[in-house]
Amino acid sequence: MDKKELINNGKVKSVYATDNPDEVIIEFRDDMTAGDGERKEVMDNKGAYNAIISTKIFKVLEENGIETQFIDLPEPNIMIAKKLEMIPIEVIIRNIATGSLIRKYPFAEGSRLEPPIVQMDFKADEYHDPMLNDSLIKALGIATQEEIEILTQKALKINEILTKFFADAGIILVDFKIEFGKDKDGNILLGDEISPDGCRLWDSETLEILDKELFRKGKDSEVMNAYIEVYNRVIPDSEKVI
Ligand code: 5GP
Repeated sequence: MDKKELINNGKVKSVYATDNPDEVIIEFRDDMTAGDGERKEVMDNKGAYNAIISTKIFKVLEENGIETQFIDLPEPNIMIAKKLEMIPIEVIIRNIATGSLIRKYPFAEGSRLEPPIVQMDFKADEYHDPMLNDSLIKALGIATQEEIEILTQKALKINEILTKFFADAGIILVDFKIEFGKDKDGNILLGDEISPDGCRLWDSETLEILDKELFRKGKDSEVMNAYIEVYNRVIPDSEKVI
């Protein structure tokens, strides 16, 4: 399948049209950014590691009844996906209090959040992704109440599936960000990616950080080793393509 015109050039992925109007090619680039894109570095093979990890996760979710946009991964950093009209909400699910949650609210760092918190942020760098609520989402015309409930239920189900998936690999799923979109029939599907870029992942025993937080903290030299550690733990040898 050939790339046609560039539809969207994101901070770390580029989306291209294809011959098929219902499918896109998503190229996972080697860029790593932090602070709404203010800091940017290139990390060897980062795009491929994220695309392969995301593919594995999307397949696990599909096997558990969650529809995703994933179709195929013909090359390590090239994904073919259903074309979606993305909903500009970052759905964040938190199992353990850390990050912006403890900067903004009186939660103790590392405390378990039971039930998990589902948070929705407006995906808009120019406004620094402010937190939304149901009224704001409806007033902005982003989603209906029914759609907000679908997003919440899907997010909680995804959290259940992935908490177990990562636990089996000796990893705690602390929190993560997901995005959804609508296909041509209006169905809401999971889109974008699920990778160490948008998840906080801690080693279950040592609590060592295995995700992009290392880059956010300026530990650039450690970040790819963490991504490779996640790759080695969650991708079976028979599925390793790099
Ligand atoms: P926090 O709000 O604590 O900074 O982030 C919560 C979770 O959502 C973390 O796992 C973080 O990686 C993810 N997250 C929040 N905003 C973004 C974003 O704009 N991009 C990415 N890749 N992940 C995000």
